[in-house]
Amino acid sequence: LLHAPQFTEGIAMETPGGLPASLELLQYCEQRVDAVIRTAEQLIRCESPSADREAIARSAELVHRIGSDLMGAPGVIHEVDGCAHVGWRFGAGTRGSVLVLGHHDTVWPYGTIDRIPFAAGPAVRGPGCLDMKVGVAIAFHAVAMLRPADGIEVLITGDEELGSPSSRALIADHAARATAALVFESGADDGSLKTARKGRSQYRLVFRGRGAHAGLEPERGANALVELSAAVLAIEALGNQTGGTTVVPSVATAGTTVVPSVATAGTTVNTVPDHAELQVDVRADDLAELERVDQEIRRVGGRVPGTEIVVHGGIDRPPLTEELSAPLLVRAQSIWRALGLGELGGARVGGGSDGNLTASAGVPTLDGLGAVGAGPHADHEYVDRAQLAGRLALAVSLLAELTGTEVTR
Ligand SMILES: [Zn+2]
Repeated sequence: LLHAPQFTEGIAMETPGGLPASLELLQYCEQRVDAVIRTAEQLIRCESPSADREAIARSAELVHRIGSDLMGAPGVIHEVDGCAHVGWRFGAGTRGSVLVLGHHDTVWPYGTIDRIPFAAGPAVRGPGCLDMKVGVAIAFHAVAMLRPADGIEVLITGDEELGSPSSRALIADHAARATAALVFESGADDGSLKTARKGRSQYRLVFRGRGAHAGLEPERGANALVELSAAVLAIEALGNQTGGTTVVPSVATAGTTVVPSVATAGTTVNTVPDHAELQVDVRADDLAELERVDQEIRRVGGRVPGTEIVVHGGIDRPPLTEELSAPLLVRAQSIWRALGLGELGGARVGGGSDGNLTASAGVPTLDGLGAVGAGPHADHEYVDRAQLAGRLALAVSLLAELTGTEVTR
């Protein structure tokens, strides 16, 4: 049940059935927006670039303190490979739990807050506000309103922006107990929830050839760069634009000098490159496409005799498909209408999140429940304050429904 004392502060929240009405819930959430922003401010001011382990550790301490205060129970800081993730588990029931998932790391280097200071106006600003510290704040405040929050687990990871290398097993572990996963990444630009995310593969191809003097005995060389060049074109052709599959050769380096034989004068212009590397980013709507590209990439090569290719990497995040999000989206949409907020859409997006990982474990997953704004990973990143109350009301209602508490019809 919604925690009664939480609703006695202002307006009467009781309906004849003893449950708060949707519109009253929305009004109550309006009153909570300042508190959500204050929570977000603390999180934003504690900068947390993914690759800075000390910063992530400090941030995790703060996330743990704030989350424990708000949600009324201590959590656990899970340190995995030096990276700090924070989790809470409410109620020790044997039935499955609803997993509330977020991350506290950002893409912003330390010191960005001096350049993009926190601001709490109609546009809430600060590094990582949209992606996704305001979302973490919404999640904490939503769970706080459900005290006791039995049947909910909360996991806030510290390396999502790196592709979740150290949190992956932890997420899988939580997903194994979960009946549903709610991901508090930002909503789409128009506020839509994220119901499908492309899957991703990442590769690093290492080309080994044989060095030789380009003038005296080029025939003794095996040009790794030429082999790479042929591979780039072959790999790019693996994409399928109409099917939504993109294959982007994204980073290429050859030899010890970055641009071989051309940009670097002198020492390397007359040397057949014996080493080259290529990185490739693949996105696709379904796993079969990722598997097709994976097989094809491993077949690339053979243009230059004497060279060989070693392929590192593979399928990294399986897709989040609409099949897995649809039942949760329907619930969210009916809550949204009951709140008087109109229609709530579902959006397919290219970028992945940890929701891909819960989905790959077969857990119904709904993403994009966090803040609404614009400019994730960009200087103009902001959160639209006016939409926070609706997001909070949606989150608390959805959590209440999924954990077996009826809300507000
Ligand atoms: Zn994010």
